[in-house]
Amino acid sequence: MSDKARDGAFDDWLDAIEDDSGYYVECENGHGWLPPRRVCPDCGSRDLSETPLPDAGEVATFTEVSVATPQFSADTPYVTAIVDYGPVRVTGLLRGADPDDVDVGMPVGIGVGERETTGDRAVVFRPR
Ligand SMILES: [Zn+2]
Repeated sequence: MSDKARDGAFDDWLDAIEDDSGYYVECENGHGWLPPRRVCPDCGSRDLSETPLPDAGEVATFTEVSVATPQFSADTPYVTAIVDYGPVRVTGLLRGADPDDVDVGMPVGIGVGERETTGDRAVVFRPR
């Protein structure tokens, strides 16, 4: 255990990603959500089940950040990406690729890494 405060559900979900058993939650109407929640914001369903996250997603949109707030200055430059996994989209850091080589539609796998400035865990995508 680290001495950092854990954000229950989100940390549990990061643990699952680290274990290669990432998931999202889906209601009976096919609405997918991340991070996991108890009630579907779309239809109010409380019957949400854990569904395995596909092995790879596709970059839907990305931003190269070269100037960050002091909190994240040691991480710059970095790329944040929103990755499409079908019913859900996940936001995270994209590493292992030159920002110039990142393209919409690029397949990426999901994992967990640390922010260099704060040491906080974060979702990290890497090219497949
Ligand atoms: Zn729903």
